[in-house]
Amino acid sequence: MLANKLQKVKIVNNYDVAKDCLYALMGGQSNAVDALEVIDPSNGAVIASIEPDSAPQIRQKISDAVFAQLEWAAHSPEYRRATLQKWHDLAAQDQDQLAALLTLEQGKSYKEAQAEIAASLKNIAWSADLCTQSHDYEAPSHVEGAVNKVVYEPLGVVAAITPWNFPSAMVTRKVAPALAAGCAVILKPAEDTPLSALALVKLAQKAGIPAEIFALAILPRESAALFSDIVFNDARVRMVSFTGSTAVGKSLIAASATNVTKLSLELGGNAPFIICADADLDKAVEGAFASKFRNAGQTCICANRLFVAASIYDQFIERFVARVAAAKIGNGFDDGVEIGPLIHARAYENMQKFLSQLQGDYAELIYRGHMDLPAPFVAPHIFACADECQAPQQEIFGPIACVYKFDDIDDVITRANETSYGLAAYVYGADQDLTAYIAQQLQFGMVGINEVRISDASIPFGGVKQSGIGREGGRDSLLNFMVSKYICQA
Ligand code: ADP
Repeated sequence: MLANKLQKVKIVNNYDVAKDCLYALMGGQSNAVDALEVIDPSNGAVIASIEPDSAPQIRQKISDAVFAQLEWAAHSPEYRRATLQKWHDLAAQDQDQLAALLTLEQGKSYKEAQAEIAASLKNIAWSADLCTQSHDYEAPSHVEGAVNKVVYEPLGVVAAITPWNFPSAMVTRKVAPALAAGCAVILKPAEDTPLSALALVKLAQKAGIPAEIFALAILPRESAALFSDIVFNDARVRMVSFTGSTAVGKSLIAASATNVTKLSLELGGNAPFIICADADLDKAVEGAFASKFRNAGQTCICANRLFVAASIYDQFIERFVARVAAAKIGNGFDDGVEIGPLIHARAYENMQKFLSQLQGDYAELIYRGHMDLPAPFVAPHIFACADECQAPQQEIFGPIACVYKFDDIDDVITRANETSYGLAAYVYGADQDLTAYIAQQLQFGMVGINEVRISDASIPFGGVKQSGIGREGGRDSLLNFMVSKYICQA
């Protein structure tokens, strides 16, 4: 059966790390046709080529999933928990290889990749633990002698679309709770980073998760819309969970009208990072660096606009420049590298465009990193922005920091909220009443106070305004993939 086979992966050169990881995780499958090429962004080398799915193959996978899901949902929650736990354990055994594969296809430092795999493992374990949690309840009946029961059922077959910036964490954050809830998933991983998804599927199958229950649809970028076309026009697909750009998210909202398909959307961000006058400067500098330059600035919760209290502005800039200057840029496998390449040429060109927008937009370049690495590497930049500077109102998604100065707390809160996005925000300061007040006033789904590591399986991740609809993770993460049924029994 089509859904029973993994896409065929062919190793196209003798790139050592790729070979080791791909063979170890996937058994070195071959016979691929000349299709989707996976590129190492740090040097442009082709790592692997993957046979993409055709439209009939994707439709067949949906059909297979429809039948298999009934069986999967009929298993006891304990069975699903044990199976997911096995998936977790197998992935844990291979975590170094999974991290290597991630660095290879995505470019982030191996240390960051290890952290992402750890987060992915937690996503699976968290969902496994929630399998046995029941949300069913009995409501007081409005009809004399009747019993009102509310039971939660899995939605059925769901589709997931994931981005390239967290090729493992985004997959597990969607797939694990969906499977735990009793759903089947057809996942379209980002075309740039399909290998991490393939490895996760392979391990899931080894753990006893049927191929029809967690299936991949691999497509090149130019055919990405084919996937949404298929899933939104198939009434058997009950939900689409998407993480990616706001522009694509909006197109999915429009497409979901056809069958009134449920959506869960985690879209772009424009995180303000407010540093109050009494902040611990060392911590604020380290937090700002980590938040801004993690994954070379390519995360939706990256600090996008830094606001620094005027009284500490000069000190902050001096230390921030020193911290950024100390960061090593290069191949994610090299020791001590903190900033890797951008994912692809398009991302590089976006940064060039952003740099030209900053020119003549009330922004002064105060630091530019030194490096002689070719595109898609981008040297870190720091700009001092006057209040009038508008360019950082867009999501930057690269290693360019834009710093504003502020005098008044309420004024900076207003400026921080002046964005159509509302995903993450950060506040650094010693006065707990003040930081709590700022957090309360910020119109964002997530706020870190003196902390930038805000993402975890245990918290509801998501935004307000144009940053999305719904939440992923947290204690209700399975409910996202379930629907209530009310039975009035007289
Ligand atoms: P980015 O520009 O950072 O790649 P996108 O939102 O374009 O962000 O992509 C995120 C994910 O959405 C990727 O898996 C991509 O292939 C997919 N995608 C892009 N356009 C569409 C579309 N029209 N329908 C379905 N998936 C899409």
